[in-house]
Amino acid sequence: MALLDREKRLKFLNLGERDAQLLRALRPLFEQRAAAVVDAFSARLLAFPETAQIVRDRTTMERLKALHLAYLLRITEGAFDDEYFAGRRRMGQTYERVGLAPRLFLIAFSFYFELLTPLIREFLHNDATHCHETVIAFEKTLMLDVSLAMDAYIASDRYRHLQQLESIVNDSADVIFLLDGEKRFRTWNRAAEHIFGWKAEEMLGKPVTEIIPPEVLKTGELERIDHEIAQHGHYQFETARMARDGRRVPVELTLSLMRDQQGHAMGCSVILRDITERKRLEESKLQSERLAVIGTMSAKLAHEIRNPLSSVLLNLDLVRDELASLGKAGGHSPAELHALIRTMDAEVRRIERVTADYLKFARLPKPQRERVSLNELLVNGLAFMQSLFDSAGVKLQTEFDPYLPPIRADESQVWQAVLNVIRNAVEAMPNGGTLTLQTFRSDAGNVVQITDTGHGMTPEQRQKLFKPFFTTKTGGTGLGLPLTQQIITEHGGRIECESVAGKGTTFTIHLPQSTDT
Ligand code: ADP
Ligand code: MG
Repeated sequence: MALLDREKRLKFLNLGERDAQLLRALRPLFEQRAAAVVDAFSARLLAFPETAQIVRDRTTMERLKALHLAYLLRITEGAFDDEYFAGRRRMGQTYERVGLAPRLFLIAFSFYFELLTPLIREFLHNDATHCHETVIAFEKTLMLDVSLAMDAYIASDRYRHLQQLESIVNDSADVIFLLDGEKRFRTWNRAAEHIFGWKAEEMLGKPVTEIIPPEVLKTGELERIDHEIAQHGHYQFETARMARDGRRVPVELTLSLMRDQQGHAMGCSVILRDITERKRLEESKLQSERLAVIGTMSAKLAHEIRNPLSSVLLNLDLVRDELASLGKAGGHSPAELHALIRTMDAEVRRIERVTADYLKFARLPKPQRERVSLNELLVNGLAFMQSLFDSAGVKLQTEFDPYLPPIRADESQVWQAVLNVIRNAVEAMPNGGTLTLQTFRSDAGNVVQITDTGHGMTPEQRQKLFKPFFTTKTGGTGLGLPLTQQIITEHGGRIECESVAGKGTTFTIHLPQSTDT
């Protein structure tokens, strides 16, 4: 561990044997001048009230000076071995223990650099390349020492709260961002990785605009945020952000201004909550409210239309009979009249079908659940459909899982739901094709999959599929799939669709085992 750490750091700083050699060459200089440098250094350090407090008496001062002299001389021994590392860490521990703030500790190092660099140049007679290389070697060594001494601070209790804060940020279920004054990411926690798909190392230091969709940016959102934060110090609102794959994520943001100890603004903190699920629920609630209105409306309408329709149909039958008997009595019945009646009949039946669909939709009762075998339900239902398949040139294929456990469901409603999907599948294959029905079990319950080899859908059609009244068919009602979805949802299940234009479509219906009732 220690060895690996040592090699890593040396490699990181590109600190090696050549540097050690250059530093060893400085030995005579340091032996001669280091004591004076330490004196100057101590005088400067004492100018800070905090350090003056720490180094109160003479003996402490002397001890400190001796330590520093030894420290400087050790640099010119030029061997970055384990012992060197241990010594630098001890130095950090001492400073941390006496309570020297990290800020002052860094200032001390910069003093050394400032005091010794001109001496090094002079010692090397200002030979340009040589000076340059040596000063860099010296600088790198000081950096190594700072980093090692810093470890002591980082490991100490006094600064542990910083780490705790970091782990709180990192393990939070919400995304927490700290943005600096230039709106660059200073943190990127696990939740952020999960939602957005970028890793911390990819995003730290990147501007916040990386995750703002261009269409949102165009609305002047950033300016609005700045304005609100400047006014109130915080701002909460809903918007969208963008994941690595371009997906838009609906989010709720809570932004707060961050200030440093002197009260200067230094960026802002952002708590981001993924509200995809909440939005989806709101949407489906809206949809079901809309459906309820449509339901009552269409029930009234359908009712008004249905009664007169029955009488029209009855009268048509009577007229047909009359025509037939006329034909028997007086030779030929007029063919055009028969044709007219046929069209009227077809039209009226269409209206009847549409109103029936509306009514079914409007009056969907609560499911009456019983123990049912999904396979049996499908086999029974399909038995009545063979002639439809034959006339449409559709080949039926079934793959039923024989070990499917029974579920609790309303048999006739579930059949209605599946039937709507089957009808659509047949209608999507005007020139025939194959209809495949599969059942299998999932963790949550039963799954039915209905696949056709029909014309499929475009992504836009696929999006609108379950919207009431969406139809691409002349004479379609666009109520089949919304009804199906309603039934499945009432059963606690869900329906999904995958489709490739020109290839075919698969609907997957998940029905849970149902633990209720
Ligand atoms: P309707 O069948 O009355 O049009 P639906 O709600 O049953 O209403 O279906 C809505 C629309 O979804 C259809 O008009 C069609 O465009 C599309 N659709 C549904 N199922 C399929 C399928 N299997 N293949 C292609 N398109 C389909
Ligand atoms: Mg349909």
